[in-house]
Amino acid sequence: MIEYTDSAKIDVLKQALIDNRYTDVIDRLRPNSKISINPSQKGFIDIYLQYPNDFIDSLREAIYRVRTQKDGDLELIRSSFDKIKINLIGELLMNMHDINTKHENTTVTLEAKFDCPLCGNEYDEKCTIDRTIIVPTCHNTSCKKVKTLIRTSEMVTDDIQTILMQEPMDKSKKSSPVIFTGKLVGKLDRFI
Ligand SMILES: [Zn+2]
Repeated sequence: MIEYTDSAKIDVLKQALIDNRYTDVIDRLRPNSKISINPSQKGFIDIYLQYPNDFIDSLREAIYRVRTQKDGDLELIRSSFDKIKINLIGELLMNMHDINTKHENTTVTLEAKFDCPLCGNEYDEKCTIDRTIIVPTCHNTSCKKVKTLIRTSEMVTDDIQTILMQEPMDKSKKSSPVIFTGKLVGKLDRFI
């Protein structure tokens, strides 16, 4: 596993923000804005899985640095935008086939909120006894059962040290879900 220094983490995340086209959103941010980031996108995911506890802090600094490209003064941007709220959203639960033993120190989701990407309806979901979370589909008829996206900033994780993790049954290949043992490394920051 590659270890990143704090400044390397911020550099990687800054590049990920640019590569995944967040620049326009960041350039339009106001001091009280919310920004939604999908940490399962390329560039974010490795840092997110390896450093879940300070991911948001690094991401916040990376956002300030992207904004600096437009407005110049990093110190001023840090103080003007210290109240922006960062929501993590995405499809992490669907990507567990991509997670291998190098990601053993990953938190696991026991309870989560999901948002419909079309109409914004919210759904609460708990994991079942075998630690599976079924990703809900939107009930709104005009959304035609679109899959909802997990709001990762409000995931509830367990404090136990070692658990089995299993991907959602509906996402597994040939009904053989990936299961492996992992350790929990603490809770994600929920609110910034
Ligand atoms: Zn919907």
